[in-house]
Amino acid sequence: MKPDNFPKNIQPHLIPEPKGELYYQCLGCSGQFSMEKLLYVCPRCGQVLLIENKNFDDLKNLSGSTWQQIFDYRRMLNIPALKGIYRFHEFIGPTLPLDDILYLGEGHTPMVAANAPLQEKAGVAFYYKNDGQNPSASFKDRGMASALSYINHLINKDLVSDVIAVCASTGDTSAAAALYAAYLQPHIKSAVLLPHKKVTPQQLSQPLGSGARVFEIPGVFDDCMKIVEKLSEEYPVALLNSKNAWRILGQESYSYEIAQDFDYDMKNKVVVVPIGNAGNISAVMNGFMKFHAVGIIDELPKIIGVQSKHADPVYRYYLEPEADKRVFTPVTVQPSVAQAAMIGNPVSMPRVMQLVEKYNAAAGEKRVFVTQVTEQEIMDWGLEANRNGHIACTQGGECLAGLARAVEQGIVHQDETAIVDATAHAMKFSGFQDLYYTRSIPEEYGITSKPELINAPRLVLPRDPEKVPAQGAPLSDDEFKTFAGDIAQRIASELNL
Ligand SMILES: *Cc1c(COP(=O)(O)O)cnc(C)c1O
Ligand SMILES: [Zn+2]
Repeated sequence: MKPDNFPKNIQPHLIPEPKGELYYQCLGCSGQFSMEKLLYVCPRCGQVLLIENKNFDDLKNLSGSTWQQIFDYRRMLNIPALKGIYRFHEFIGPTLPLDDILYLGEGHTPMVAANAPLQEKAGVAFYYKNDGQNPSASFKDRGMASALSYINHLINKDLVSDVIAVCASTGDTSAAAALYAAYLQPHIKSAVLLPHKKVTPQQLSQPLGSGARVFEIPGVFDDCMKIVEKLSEEYPVALLNSKNAWRILGQESYSYEIAQDFDYDMKNKVVVVPIGNAGNISAVMNGFMKFHAVGIIDELPKIIGVQSKHADPVYRYYLEPEADKRVFTPVTVQPSVAQAAMIGNPVSMPRVMQLVEKYNAAAGEKRVFVTQVTEQEIMDWGLEANRNGHIACTQGGECLAGLARAVEQGIVHQDETAIVDATAHAMKFSGFQDLYYTRSIPEEYGITSKPELINAPRLVLPRDPEKVPAQGAPLSDDEFKTFAGDIAQRIASELNL
């Protein structure tokens, strides 16, 4: 629909103008720093940052229900810059002109209700939100659209040129970074650091296909992260890990979309996300809090972070019920099929600590929880979900396993509805499914394949196995008739027809 056709009271707000003033807020020393330079950590104390808007309170000049209408009407616009995460422009990157915004089709991923058998198994009503249906097949595109739109803005203002963007990755960050950087040719080149043999072949193919420089490093993600940090301290590179606070802003869109898809009614809702580097859960909390502060939602949903027993530093931290007795200790990770979340020392832990306190305070009660699940549960729940019509990756399996655990523990109740994050597409992690089906998952994962979940193709041959069609050597008409008859009969007998 064209802007002129919208209601008169919405028209002035429909297409956002650059507004507000963003600054970096340090979570360590509370220092505030201007946006002029790209910062990843506090120049004073080295802690991580979040981006805040000096004029955030101006957003309260419109009522919550007016904002709801603005976002709902924006759904009908055909302006590319407002088709993705920037539908929520005022809450994500209010200073960016629409001309600088990159849109590659990210965001507004579907929420798919679980069917009755799966809900019954999980013990509660729930939806999967399929973030695997983003352009590079994971939620990381939300943060990259935001970070690269900002860099594009700096390029267009001639404030930077020939940007070298770098990131460390458990696979998906590099796929997203390389994709968005490829779109901004020739102004930006990307380099990604991956832990050698710790990303799936599909994930490795993505940055290669986008033309990034790909470096494989011995060790695990945490080791790659340290090298990237060293690069960003000593060389003029743009860091695209979630240490970059622009990434967090973009990932807040996940919360805004959930709110909008429930017509802004967050009562009795439970949002379940996996925790790796903890950027995503930080963004999800922050997003809901912003909408809550402006009155777009009246209630904050329950949030459940899920970790594998093989990479669970955040879970361990919150095991201590008394806040002032908690001590954060990084863990050494063990192999996890939720490989994208296999992180022992999450960069965003300081964000989590602060945001959890703020979130619970704003909700008036404890509403953020962290659960722990086994590798076996991650695999079994993921496969089970996909057998019921979903396309959940292993981290999506982890989330569903975490929801089931939370129901079991009485954290989630029957009158609630959960939204479970399938953070990537199942196909990125199909190798783990293959290993499960062929009973060959390495022992250190601690997973035993359940016969009822295994599936395998069956080669069907005719009675005379020599008489089969081959390329360039077709059968005679009679031979083919026999062949087709034989095969059809065998399939029919297998299917008990
Ligand atoms: C990055 C990633 C995670 C972990 O998210 P964090 O923000 O690092 O906590 C989970 N699942 C997938 C598929 C990912 O790519
Ligand atoms: Zn500081």
